[in-house]
Amino acid sequence: MSSAEWESLCDGCGRCCMVKLEEEDTGACYLTRLACSLLDIGSCRCSDYPNRKARMSDCVTIDPASVRKLEWLPETCAYRLVEEGRDLYWWHPLISGSPETVHAAGVSVREWARSEKGVKLSAMQRYIIGPADHGAARRQQPARKAARRRA
Ligand code: SF4
Ligand code: SF4
Repeated sequence: MSSAEWESLCDGCGRCCMVKLEEEDTGACYLTRLACSLLDIGSCRCSDYPNRKARMSDCVTIDPASVRKLEWLPETCAYRLVEEGRDLYWWHPLISGSPETVHAAGVSVREWARSEKGVKLSAMQRYIIGPADHGAARRQQPARKAARRRA
């Protein structure tokens, strides 16, 4: 798969650009509704994609080798679906032909994300909305490490 083809697999949901909090003791990972400050919430795209690694040191690269290890990737993520041998959903732009269907289907973060700008790390726990992986982890001790994403 070429680099352009790989990039086109991203459905533009923005879910992997949400701040995750990792519990120091257990490694449990929680999803917040805080978006990376570089995410353009309206389009659900990175506002400085070419320079993201320089500007956000914890932005995680998603490549074929890492998909399987990134347990916090949402189940709807096209990279996860392909890795698991599953079909893309109808709303994926490559299927629907429109970048808007991921929003119309309610899959993107457009309607519920808020920027992490101005939110202190110590206050981020308030924005936890659930476990970020497939486990049944529950909220426990103070979480602190932010994890980001992406390709
Ligand atoms: S979760 Fe997957 S499909 Fe959605 S924006 Fe991130 S990389 Fe793209
Ligand atoms: S997590 Fe990475 S790709 Fe997503 S908005 Fe932030 S810097 Fe850009």
